[in-house]
Amino acid sequence: MFAELLLDQRLLKSVDKMGFEKPTPVQQQAIPLALEGRDLLVSAATGSGKTAAFLLPILQGMIKNPPPKEGTRALVIVPTRELARQIGKECEKLASYCGIKVGVITGGQEFKVQRALLRRDPEILIGTPGRMLELVKEGSTLFTNLEYLVLDEADRLFEMGFDEDVLAIIAQCNEARQTMLLSATLPGGVRRLMQVLNNPARVMVNDGREEHSSIRQQYVLADDDKHKEKLLLWLLENETFERALVFANTRDMATHLSGVMRYRGQRAGYLHGEVKQDVRNSTTTAFRDGKIKVLIASDVASRGLDVKGIDLVINFDMARKGDDYVHRIGRTGRAGETGLAVALIAPNEWNLKASIERYLNIKMEARKVKEFPGHYKGPKKVKASGKAATTNKRKKKD
Ligand code: AMP
Repeated sequence: MFAELLLDQRLLKSVDKMGFEKPTPVQQQAIPLALEGRDLLVSAATGSGKTAAFLLPILQGMIKNPPPKEGTRALVIVPTRELARQIGKECEKLASYCGIKVGVITGGQEFKVQRALLRRDPEILIGTPGRMLELVKEGSTLFTNLEYLVLDEADRLFEMGFDEDVLAIIAQCNEARQTMLLSATLPGGVRRLMQVLNNPARVMVNDGREEHSSIRQQYVLADDDKHKEKLLLWLLENETFERALVFANTRDMATHLSGVMRYRGQRAGYLHGEVKQDVRNSTTTAFRDGKIKVLIASDVASRGLDVKGIDLVINFDMARKGDDYVHRIGRTGRAGETGLAVALIAPNEWNLKASIERYLNIKMEARKVKEFPGHYKGPKKVKASGKAATTNKRKKKD
């Protein structure tokens, strides 16, 4: 129960209103440690409830302690605009009875509007590193009284090359702050960012790899992209789902597939790095509202997309890394729902699939679509080596 975490009544009220019945494992472990004032290193997969795990103790601290004379009290740095907006919304809901102001700062918005927002002194700022750094440079006192710093999806911040910007922002922050770093996985590259933590308590709900037992993971062998298109369409026409998310590795493929799917009568849309912010927002909203049923996206565009009821994820192109695969399929099966993930595997993707299976310690279920059988049957079975075969033959002779 949330009440056992000794949270303020106003926070309990918002949690209740949001329909959270009991804390998720990461919330159960992280919230008491954060309330003690410890720095935290949290390894939890997307969908685990990690956002409320860091927001609730921050809000609790803000309610309890008197505010500083000026400046932002909490800064949350995230890798993508979508994730920033998503966290902003969750934060507004959690803070709705506390009168705490929340601001979201990302690229793709006007500087004028953002400066005005900063003048209103939001207690909690959520944003992406590039724009945040530019604004910090303009007014370096912004974070001198900072009480809380959160680096969310630190693996992504590192992978997207944001670590320099993040460290430059941190250099402008109050040193006497509490810092929390969250990451689905903890690859070596995140270590540089981890150095900003002061004797952190570690919360390892999982290492990001085993969270997805509620998701059925399958693969279908495919000859090439043309064959994949047929399989994709067949899956969309034959699976029962509310919302499907399809991953393509290139912008051109995402756009192309969306066109093909629309032509074939699917309510499809696409998101990738070159889609303008306002179009991105309207596409995400249409997907959330059910006007779009099939969203074709690249990895970056899908980050932070927390749309309820995604029950089918199709990897049209296989993820290039285990961590990406985890993030992709993490879009489904969120907070107790179940989901289906299907990967279309062409000959040149077999090794990738095998290495992802090894990395995640899983075995994807083979699935055949008999309407579109294809020629590719998987890698040739390796026969017993020549030596062993000879030995066997000899044995037989003997
Ligand atoms: P996150 O891992 O923070 O992206 O959260 C994934 C989803 O779970 C979001 O839609 C949250 O609103 C939801 N959520 C977070 N905490 C809980 C909880 N204790 N009970 C139910 N849903 C939750």
